[in-house]
Amino acid sequence: MRTIVKNGNVITSNDEFRGDILIENGKITGIGSFVPGEGDQVIDAAGRYVFPGGVDQHTHFSALCNSGDKDTAGYESTDAVIVGGTTTIVDYAPQDPGKGLLDSIDYRINVRAKGKTCVDYTLHAMITDIMDCIFEEVKDLPKNGISSIKCFMAYKDSPLHVDDGTLYKILRNSRDVGVTVFVHGENGELIDRFQRDCVKAGHIEPKYHAVSRPPFVEGEGTARAIYLANKAGTPLYVAHVTCQDAIDEIVKARGRNQRVMGETCTHYLTVTKKALENEDFLEASKYVCSPALRDEAELENLWNALNDGTLNAIVSDHCGIDLEMKKQGLESFTLIPNGSPGAGDRIHVIWAKGVMTGKITKQKFVQLIATNPAKINGIYPQKGDIVIGADADLVIFDPDYRGEIRWADCPNGVDYNVYEGEPLLGRVDTVLLRGEVVVENAKFVGQYGQGRFIPAKPYAAAYVGL
Ligand SMILES: [Zn+2]
Repeated sequence: MRTIVKNGNVITSNDEFRGDILIENGKITGIGSFVPGEGDQVIDAAGRYVFPGGVDQHTHFSALCNSGDKDTAGYESTDAVIVGGTTTIVDYAPQDPGKGLLDSIDYRINVRAKGKTCVDYTLHAMITDIMDCIFEEVKDLPKNGISSIKCFMAYKDSPLHVDDGTLYKILRNSRDVGVTVFVHGENGELIDRFQRDCVKAGHIEPKYHAVSRPPFVEGEGTARAIYLANKAGTPLYVAHVTCQDAIDEIVKARGRNQRVMGETCTHYLTVTKKALENEDFLEASKYVCSPALRDEAELENLWNALNDGTLNAIVSDHCGIDLEMKKQGLESFTLIPNGSPGAGDRIHVIWAKGVMTGKITKQKFVQLIATNPAKINGIYPQKGDIVIGADADLVIFDPDYRGEIRWADCPNGVDYNVYEGEPLLGRVDTVLLRGEVVVENAKFVGQYGQGRFIPAKPYAAAYVGL
């Protein structure tokens, strides 16, 4: 059967035009003008935008698999993600207890995500246990459809922390096989000292989360990662950049022709650290994520860095932690589990706060929320743009809709939404995943488990450019 998405205002990564999209066997096979034949399914998109399904290259579903029975929201909650217009995620695959990188990835694909995920996905390997085997395993990631690995420089004394020696060795081994190394570039030792000082002074409220990890902590971590990557001769991808200190380091590196790229997140572009100053502990704890939220001036710095190409993706860093778990930090902000949900809201919030304000063009929007993440993660052109041969992952977006984000309209698997009450200046109306309508009238009409693992190719954009 053929499907024709008719008369939409099509927005791609570099164009906008009125036209039809022809779909056969789940793939885009034509862009232009098509006369429906007998038996063709026609989806009328007149008066609406049609853009590629979003690719969110930074999510943490089922993130705490190492810590017993409590976990963050799992893949079954990706129904809210696809309702929000994101059709593919690149989820983090932390090592399971006593397991290496590859076994943990295998378990995630065949047990955790299987039968549950509503979005297509690929994975980043993620070090949470520095076992001898991981250095060899890095070389086998591409054979297993994985093209990236995450190293955390922050979180001193936690299993997440990757020391400089390990980071360097991972960089070296990644270079040989085209794996992209993502870093969380905060200096864990500085944070540890500042946290101790805060607690000692009786400063235990959530707002001290930001006090204990100021921007220069991120600037230093980013600079060190860039230095080590340069010595290893490996490209680097800096996760969740939040401030000018880190942006400056990326600009400097590019100035000497080093391959460094970076992303930022929806919340760093739209929320300030004022949110952490709320007197209500639970309200404030919703915004405890790392790096910390920044002041107003950094918001503008980040939009500028996206527009000038220093940063090249907007991600959610989605982590679904219930408020009940956030209460672990009532005695001290250092014990609040870090992370905020937002994978389902990214496209709506960036449309309202980026496109509608004139900060970014519609083409830039598509690049940042879909095309670049697909290229960075080795799944382009199957994902990320409207091009012949791509999977027919499409969003039909009603630009005239006016309303507000309400958790109750689209529960995200967590007991709150950090964007509650934010304006919807347009809304995702219909979503196609590989040619199938899975969201209709902003409601999920697909199947749990419809999402597929998409093998990623090595030597992606960090190596070869966008
Ligand atoms: Zn993250």
